[in-house]
Amino acid sequence: MSKQTLPVASLGFPRIGRHRELKFALEGHWAGRIAESDLLETARRLRAENWALQRDQGITKIPSNDFSLYDHVLDTAVMVGAIPAAYGWTGGEVPLSIYFAMARGSQGDGRADCGHAHHAQGVPALEMTKWFDTNYHYMVPEVGEDQAFTLTAQKPVDHFLEAKALGIHTRPVVLGPVTFLKLSKARPSTFKPLDLLARLLPVYEELFRRLEAAGADWVQVDEPVLALDLTEGERHAFKLAYEALARSAPGLKVMLATYFGALADNLEAVAALPVAGLHVDLVRAPEQLEPVAKAMGADRVLSLGVIDGRNIWKADLAAILGRLAPVVSARAAGAVEVAASCPLLHVPIDLELETALDADLKSWLSFATQKLGELSAIGRGLAEGEDAVRQAVDGASRAIAARAASLKVTDPLVQGRIAGIDEGMKARGSAFETRRKVQAAAIRLPLFPTTTIGSFPQTGDVRKARSAHAKGALSYKDYEAFLQKETEAAIRWQEEIGLDVLVHGEFERNDMVQYFGEQLAGFAFTQHAWVQSYGSRYVRPPIIFGDVSRPNPMTVRWWQYAQSLTGKPVKGMLTGPVTILNWSFVRDDIPRSETCRQIALAIRDEVVDLEKAGAKMIQIDEAALREGLPLRHRDWQHYLGWAVECFRLCASGVADVTQIHTHMCYSEFNDIISAIAAMDADVISIETSRSKMELLDAFRDFDYPNEIGPGVYDIHSPRVPDVGEMTGLLSLARKRLHDRQLWVNPDCGLKTRKWDEVRPALVNMVAAAGELRKVAQ
Ligand code: GLN
Ligand code: ZN
Repeated sequence: MSKQTLPVASLGFPRIGRHRELKFALEGHWAGRIAESDLLETARRLRAENWALQRDQGITKIPSNDFSLYDHVLDTAVMVGAIPAAYGWTGGEVPLSIYFAMARGSQGDGRADCGHAHHAQGVPALEMTKWFDTNYHYMVPEVGEDQAFTLTAQKPVDHFLEAKALGIHTRPVVLGPVTFLKLSKARPSTFKPLDLLARLLPVYEELFRRLEAAGADWVQVDEPVLALDLTEGERHAFKLAYEALARSAPGLKVMLATYFGALADNLEAVAALPVAGLHVDLVRAPEQLEPVAKAMGADRVLSLGVIDGRNIWKADLAAILGRLAPVVSARAAGAVEVAASCPLLHVPIDLELETALDADLKSWLSFATQKLGELSAIGRGLAEGEDAVRQAVDGASRAIAARAASLKVTDPLVQGRIAGIDEGMKARGSAFETRRKVQAAAIRLPLFPTTTIGSFPQTGDVRKARSAHAKGALSYKDYEAFLQKETEAAIRWQEEIGLDVLVHGEFERNDMVQYFGEQLAGFAFTQHAWVQSYGSRYVRPPIIFGDVSRPNPMTVRWWQYAQSLTGKPVKGMLTGPVTILNWSFVRDDIPRSETCRQIALAIRDEVVDLEKAGAKMIQIDEAALREGLPLRHRDWQHYLGWAVECFRLCASGVADVTQIHTHMCYSEFNDIISAIAAMDADVISIETSRSKMELLDAFRDFDYPNEIGPGVYDIHSPRVPDVGEMTGLLSLARKRLHDRQLWVNPDCGLKTRKWDEVRPALVNMVAAAGELRKVAQ
């Protein structure tokens, strides 16, 4: 190619395959249908396709080792020999069976979808948790106090050579040593994983020497923890690490990649590191461009992350070129690269696969493949001038102007309602103490009332019926009749075992966000836009493209049907605005808080309609409220402010007598307990069983006034807890809370469990509440 361009980088490409090839190969392998060699062959093909695609789209810094069979943090743990003894590794090459045992446990997969670790019957999997503020989950490495590290494999070298054999020169990607240790868990928790840095570094040094020997000239080292609040000690760890690495392989240049936020107070320490290049996220933190350029000097390579790796909107190429041109001309030749803001792992692969999307909406979007094109246009535009990429620039400008002007995006009615929000709409009629009395008089419940979180098992039959209906093989009428039968059976069974507050079971819901998104205006859904959530589990997040409103009631019919079957109260069941927001691709043309407020108004309408239909209790799930916390502490108050406001907005349209419940999965509430209290839900159910109720300390210390259902049954495990275990947990809860506050429920919804597990567990749970009532009289 004679065309000129600046170096262009994607930082990483989705690994799952355009048609989810990796998922099918993995799951086939786990089921024993696909041989290991065939799985590895699929993986090799996917890598080759990704490299070729990126080369053809004009990427010049093509990543390798961004591929993973399951998770890149797990890959790193295995590579450096951080393999807990339980997995039975005795040295040497780590077999795939051990890798997968660390990922999934050695037997079965009892995982629910809150993103937690679980225990299969054999060796449990490593814990799993969210990767920064994305919806990707990584396996948490475990390191011991006397941990020895050793290079068990050289996947980064192997993949570099694999690409080289295809004629493609790549820039290997490795997870940086400081981020690796900071994300690891110490077992026992008597020390800090980062204390092990000096022992880990020789392994990285060896890897770097091998990369250099294999012919790599650059390596991309990902250190996303640099976007977090760090201690002085942690910053010092960077100095130790990067000085050692620079010494070990002087010919291998390091592109230190930071993303998901600003370097801010870490910038000074980073600029002092002996690295040849620095990547910064200019989508999340555009304001850091000038300070970073200044701190890095004009000669070192600055990688400017200007294409959004976290969202799916077309970029404004003219604006980006205008902003970057002066920076480029102020720097030395060769000292600038153009890149995605972060690896493209978090966006779907190819917009062209979407054949059913609204044509206007489609013209506003850009998935990973399209983003490669945007990147290369910017690289060329900066090297040759905007005219060289006139067509791409004008096309983007036209799409952006059309989106801004589209009537599909703006709804004056919604905007009017938003403008009309007043303080009264954000507060219940009376304070909790008054509501409690009114509710207790209207809804007669025993001490320690029993309930569940909403869903019952989504059995094979339920999923089959749903997909038959989706394919047109099962009529709407028959599908409805089937769902009614399931719901009725669930109600009958709950009555039979003596639960106090019933649920309809959520059989009609595919997913707790999608189900609502599909019924709200302003949302769109894709056919193939999968992104990895963890391992072989991918999700298709809804796209919120316009002002959100609720044309019709969404859940009232199902609630009414369930309530018509029983004299016991049935809870209405809704997903909250913050959770819907956090699990979707969100508009970038208005603040997130604004979209959240719109969703809150829509959910408020539903809450009011449920009350009108006769619901006495309505649960608004906010599973993702805590996980939406910003990466930097100083941003928490702002987020919690609008998140709590949105919850109150949807919960406050009802009379005192209507009892509002909420549910949250992650329950480490110490640092946000005042926000939880400010939500002012009458009842909150939380996940506590595995913490042995210690998570309730925060509620006790805060003197939390409202009612609480601390989970007494770990739904992530197929194990059935017996009565004694649950009364034991409840006594621990009673030490921390007043009896009148306590509800009895499982940790979370039961949709991923089997009926054979759920039935005895809930029978025991009801019995445990009964025991407690006897002793508490
Ligand atoms: N009501 C939902 C359910 O029971 C809540 C799930 C969740 O919070 N993750 O499945
Ligand atoms: Zn939950």
